[in-house]
Amino acid sequence: TEQLVEVQDLKKYFPIKKDLSVKSVDNISFTVKKGETFGLVGESGSGKSTLGKTLVGLQQPTGGNIIYNGLDVTKFNKEMKRKVNKEMQIIFQDPHASLNPRMRVGDIIAEGLDAYKLLKGKERTNRIYQLLERVGLRPEHAKRYPHEFSGGQRQRIGIARALAVEPKFIVADEPISALDVSIQAQVINLMEDLKKSEGLTYLFIAHDLGMVKHISDRIGVMYLGKMMELSSSNDMFNRPLHPYTQALLSAIPQANPRTAKRDRIVLAGDPPSPTNPPSGCRFRTRCPHAMEICSHQEPQWKEVEHDHWTACHLY
Ligand code: SF4
Ligand code: MG
Repeated sequence: TEQLVEVQDLKKYFPIKKDLSVKSVDNISFTVKKGETFGLVGESGSGKSTLGKTLVGLQQPTGGNIIYNGLDVTKFNKEMKRKVNKEMQIIFQDPHASLNPRMRVGDIIAEGLDAYKLLKGKERTNRIYQLLERVGLRPEHAKRYPHEFSGGQRQRIGIARALAVEPKFIVADEPISALDVSIQAQVINLMEDLKKSEGLTYLFIAHDLGMVKHISDRIGVMYLGKMMELSSSNDMFNRPLHPYTQALLSAIPQANPRTAKRDRIVLAGDPPSPTNPPSGCRFRTRCPHAMEICSHQEPQWKEVEHDHWTACHLY
């Protein structure tokens, strides 16, 4: 199939007390195509990290289905899930917090190899050396500890760890947000390079659209646990449909202000609490186009143009 990951009505709720839960991922459906980079964008609290973690099996979904390579992972038993999840790895935002400070870099990189009992002894060591070189580090780095490395190098270690088990699908959860701007491009270039050589598919999570514009084939925009819009990167930037996307785009500084056609759309207020989202359309409290219907009827997720999806009563 052309689709690598198919998400159907996915829900991930976190109960906080009786009859109350945070609906971090609330009925989301979309697909990730084989070989693409899918950019997933949203403010903090939009549920994008939870969605990413649920896809790779670090969180159990509350409802819905995750179809990987034609197989419904949500129907699998633990053993089979484990097998599939080996092909789905994650790179975390903060390379400092995600690497155990008491472990040597070589053992960190081999975490997946050890968990799945893939290699031992000399073969394991050689694989660690090979992975270090693959991400631009050196074999002698295997003996050192994470604190001896810069932020960019630590993210390379995180990438090597994800690659160790030869995944097909990688969720990159804001992999460059914590890095110096001068280092960001290097890590992106490495990821692009690995994508080609290892035949990877990425779900690349970011908090702003500008960051994913050039690397994404398609982009999805999340708001308060819902997907608001999904399209090719080009369509998203040229013809955004959803008022939220339009506002996000208007906030991106233009390279050439003389040719800039977009007026800045300033959204009223902060995003509401995900514990108690607005009725109807969740975006309505900040939407410049909100209508009567928006307060009592939730807009449906629909394909408005070819492979251009949105949930808004304007369409
Ligand atoms: Fe705005 Fe209504 Fe569309 Fe929601 S459904 S984005 S409130 S116009
Ligand atoms: Mg996050």
